[in-house]
Amino acid sequence: MTNHSVVIAGGGPTGLMLAGELALAGVDVAVVERRPNQELSGARALGISSRTIEVLDQRGIADRFLSAGQTAQVTGFAVTRLDISDFPTRHNYGLGLRQKHIERILAGWVTELNVPILYGREITGFVQDGAGVIVTLAGGEQIHCRKLLIATGVIDNLPDIPGFAELFGVSVFHCPYCDGWEVRDRPLAIYGRGARGYGLSLELTAWSRDLVLCTDGPCEVNDEERGRLDRHGIRIREDRVVRLEGRDALERIVFASGEPLERHALFFTTGQSQQSHLAHGLGCEINEKGTVRTGKYEATHLPGLYVAGDASRAVQWVVVAAAEGAEAAFAINTDLLKEDLD
Ligand SMILES: Cc1cc2nc3c(=O)[nH]c(=O)nc-3n(C[C@H](O)[C@H](O)[C@H](O)COP(=O)(O)OP(=O)(O)OC[C@H]3O[C@@H](n4cnc5c(N)ncnc54)[C@H](O)[C@@H]3O)c2cc1C
Repeated sequence: MTNHSVVIAGGGPTGLMLAGELALAGVDVAVVERRPNQELSGARALGISSRTIEVLDQRGIADRFLSAGQTAQVTGFAVTRLDISDFPTRHNYGLGLRQKHIERILAGWVTELNVPILYGREITGFVQDGAGVIVTLAGGEQIHCRKLLIATGVIDNLPDIPGFAELFGVSVFHCPYCDGWEVRDRPLAIYGRGARGYGLSLELTAWSRDLVLCTDGPCEVNDEERGRLDRHGIRIREDRVVRLEGRDALERIVFASGEPLERHALFFTTGQSQQSHLAHGLGCEINEKGTVRTGKYEATHLPGLYVAGDASRAVQWVVVAAAEGAEAAFAINTDLLKEDLD
């Protein structure tokens, strides 16, 4: 059995940032990532903020990101056009850089700090012993560590409708804050029903006033909610959705009955699931979004076990994930020091 002070489950932005922070503090840490390498398919985050660049600068690696992306002082966030040219920082701009590049650069940095990233390995379970945690990988290999951090992220539950998965991240999205700005004022659809579909529809009025809520069956909203949607010009379409069509982006939604609906993009709200069952195994409280409620600095109620990043939060952005990674690194390192100096 190999030994590390800290094992991180998941080599996404949270896990990598955390690994870098711990390595800089001299902690013996290993990352276990089930992907065969750092390649990331599909669209995810598109950039990082000024404050994140400041942190990367403190670590001496901001230039690696800046040379790979495109800076902008005026950008869109949510419904606001932001001009940050007068921010009191020398990094008074945001950086457009796709998540796959962000991860590649972070992984390079972490590797230079001599952190092993064990690609193609999946953590399947863990048990606590008197001295820490025994982590089991698929295939039976075991690693002993003093602290385990779970940063295994979440997946969106995509409806089983042809075209949905193909257009996901292109013009089918789950988060208006991530992708609403690019499609503002365009004809948009919302996929979802009941309180979720209702809530997302109202939220999206901040980005567009041409909205159709597609409930793929009975809409499950009451008369009062229906009236409110109507007052805001949001139409409801209850016909069954048969497929999404579009060559490079969404063009139309095809229903089992009635005319197809021309739309530029679709936002859906059908929930998320943990990418791995590990967090469930902790016996932590899981909120209605399917993510884990953690305590201070991402600690769980179990000694030596932490959950950070998308797996533990409702707000799911790379900047938040990276910040949580740094926060958890602080807590883990403090705990290790306290134990060692006892
Ligand atoms: C379509 C889309 C668009 C987005 N757009 C934006 C955006 O514009 N801006 C923004 O800030 N954010 C955006 N996000 C969110 C952003 O991608 C996440 O906040 C971020 O990836 C979270 O990082 P993480 O490290 O917590 O989780 P993840 O990135 O999900 O990483 C988790 C890692 O854990 C690995 N893993 C899972 N289970 C195991 C296991 N058992 N053993 C070992 N490894 C395991 C996975 O392979 C994965 O690499 C978007 C997300 C999606 C899906």
